[in-house]
Amino acid sequence: MKKIQMVDLKGQYSGIKDVVDPAIQEVIDTATFINGPKVHEFQKNLENYLGVKHVIPCANGTDALQIAMMGLGLKPGDEVITADFTFAATVEVIALLGLTPVLVDVEADTFNIDVEAIKKAITPKTKAIVPVHLFGQCANMEAIMEVAKAHNLYVIEDNAQAIGATYTYANGDKAKAGTIGDVSSTSFFPSKNLGCYGDGGAIFTNNDDLAHTIRGIVNHGMYKRYHHDVVGVNSRLDSIQAAVLDAKLVHLDTYNASRRRAAHKYNEHFKDVSEITTPYEYGAKDNHVYHQYTLKLSGVDRDALVQYLNDNNIPCGVYYPIPLHNQKAYQDSRYNEADFTVTNQLVKDVISLPMHTELDDEQIAFIANHIKTFING
Ligand SMILES: *Cc1c(COP(=O)(O)O)cnc(C)c1O
Repeated sequence: MKKIQMVDLKGQYSGIKDVVDPAIQEVIDTATFINGPKVHEFQKNLENYLGVKHVIPCANGTDALQIAMMGLGLKPGDEVITADFTFAATVEVIALLGLTPVLVDVEADTFNIDVEAIKKAITPKTKAIVPVHLFGQCANMEAIMEVAKAHNLYVIEDNAQAIGATYTYANGDKAKAGTIGDVSSTSFFPSKNLGCYGDGGAIFTNNDDLAHTIRGIVNHGMYKRYHHDVVGVNSRLDSIQAAVLDAKLVHLDTYNASRRRAAHKYNEHFKDVSEITTPYEYGAKDNHVYHQYTLKLSGVDRDALVQYLNDNNIPCGVYYPIPLHNQKAYQDSRYNEADFTVTNQLVKDVISLPMHTELDDEQIAFIANHIKTFING
């Protein structure tokens, strides 16, 4: 059996080496390291894939979120509602811009932001909602867009974990994750579903004016050479990373299908284990692209299981072990523990298993059997 890894980037690379190596070499040969033709090609190809008017590449997914918020002109004092159960980057950029983060609870089954909790958190200062498509499954975008419209709020999708997922509306219409809100951000961190070989990110929008504003912000607030109209940042996608991403984009649907297949294989192994709740999927089958495969445990010593798996050379992860509202940096006296019952429980119960494009049935069986052996004693 191949060595089990949380993410197998080397194995994935061996399947695309023939295309990736010459693409990287071409960037070196032409010395077009910054803003080279590869960046533009990738941008166009991603726009076509997503069916979105504008993709603005940038340096990483955290920058992408920050720049999206800068582009919308959010101002200190504005309240931005986001999920308590997510990676810290989401709340970090809100705080960094002097905006007021308002964390709310998530749904126990999907782990995504709870629309009722959003409604309760809206005040006259609320300006935006940031749903995170956690672990690869789209948040309840139709309901979120409805709430946003009723209260005149922006919606910024944090799509770092769900690139390639397809959201299906109640009427059957479909849209790619990251193309539904006013603006979205994604990350091309190596382990993400579309990852490069370093850092990378992008912002998506269908709004021409916003795209124009953002293109200036990523480039020092410059719309005309050496004329700085707004305070910007320096956030670029390297040409070498764009070359890697362009080579991988054509495989993204196949990669996501492999992840889904692996997830369903795991589900079969766990279907009769009452202590395990396998990931809840809702909507159409392509709504979830399994950035993570995350179980909920009940009546199992989660930390002892993590130790047992590690002792058996099976990597695993706990995403996320601490609710954001309990993190030192993001505590707020206005928060009430009773409003975070789901997140407070999830942080104790979740465990994420190896999930990547190269996972085979033998590895999945090995992992599942170890977990069952641990639970059955
Ligand atoms: C990875 C991630 C980010 C940040 O992306 P970076 O490229 O690492 O800056 C933001 N939000 C979520 C939900 C993520 O998973």
